[in-house]
Amino acid sequence: MSSLTIPPPPCLQKRLLVPHRYMFGPGPSNVPTRILEAGAKPVIGHMHPEIFEIMNDIKSGIRYVFQTQNKVSLAVSGTGHTAMECAIFNTVEPGDSVLVAVNGIWGERAADMAERIGKAASSCSRCIISPQALSKHSPVLFFLAHGESSTGVLHPLEGIGDLCHKYNCLFLVDSVASIGGAPVYMDQQGIDILYTGSQKVLNAPPGTAPISFSERACRKVFNRTTKPVSFFLDLSWLANYWGCDDKPSRKYHHTGPVTAFYSLRESLAVLAEEGLENSWKRHQRVMLYFHAGLESMGLKLFVKDKDTRLPTVTTIVAPHGYDWKEITGYIMKTHNLEISGGLGPSVGLVLRVGLMGCNSSEANVDMVLAALRDALKHCHKSKV
Ligand code: PMP
Repeated sequence: MSSLTIPPPPCLQKRLLVPHRYMFGPGPSNVPTRILEAGAKPVIGHMHPEIFEIMNDIKSGIRYVFQTQNKVSLAVSGTGHTAMECAIFNTVEPGDSVLVAVNGIWGERAADMAERIGKAASSCSRCIISPQALSKHSPVLFFLAHGESSTGVLHPLEGIGDLCHKYNCLFLVDSVASIGGAPVYMDQQGIDILYTGSQKVLNAPPGTAPISFSERACRKVFNRTTKPVSFFLDLSWLANYWGCDDKPSRKYHHTGPVTAFYSLRESLAVLAEEGLENSWKRHQRVMLYFHAGLESMGLKLFVKDKDTRLPTVTTIVAPHGYDWKEITGYIMKTHNLEISGGLGPSVGLVLRVGLMGCNSSEANVDMVLAALRDALKHCHKSKV
């Protein structure tokens, strides 16, 4: 007689089945075989010398992709949100003011995270950066999403770092949707904290998030008088685990997801082999080809200003008379292809198509255009 009251679930007795799918939504993207295979290599200890070498390769790859010499460059174990919280939780202390550019959902989320630190204390002003805003709020941190994947906007970065520094404010940039697909020069642009995710242009599985801190940012983080609210994301621990501090040895902090590190390392190697500038050019070229195709079908681009269109994620004005959910559902069912609707403030307004990393090609654009044409022919269109 078994002492168990819960039997083994029958569903777990079936084989794991995962379909192949064209991942042309705003992420995750498809993962090429080379990167998948890297993640299938044997597990070794998270404190073994070989993993430290792999982590060192990742740090070099991040410095290249971010164009920075920052010593404190590492990958947090978690997704883009983890890196967002790592940036905010380490720099903001109760009582500090934070300024957030809210141009879509990522600004909203950054403001939400900042507000969680010392309830009454951190005030988040929802505005675009200006000398007036900086002198009014005296923020310690200004947040901007470079690629706002909810609206498809690529926000210019020039001049903002210098402006922030004049007011003793750190410049935090979210490049989850843009890194590798559009130019970012962390050091030259005076960005103090930059983070991204593994699952978009990098084409690695979700679960690791590169992040880098300038010396100015480190001064704030390492001289704070209170401990960051998160132990897991405490930069002094992470910097030590990643060998970014001057301590003679690395201490156990958490069990690093070693197989995810292999994939991330390989994804950075793939990007380094192509060359950042070539990757930026390819994303730009494919975006223009895609946008011309959409317009020739009579579809409208949501971002009117051509110069601020995000090359990685395109937002299309939701076609009039159609239910966007029927379109995305039809394309998924008939073409085995993911595109998505809006997110946060753009829900109901747009369709979003992400062509990132290895997915950014003319052949894939043709596939998406054919799927859209087919959906517009077969989905229900109201007469009103
Ligand atoms: N920032 C941006 C600009 C994003 O596009 C995303 C993911 N869509 C995130 C942050 C959050 O990343 P994750 O889903 O990996 O937590």
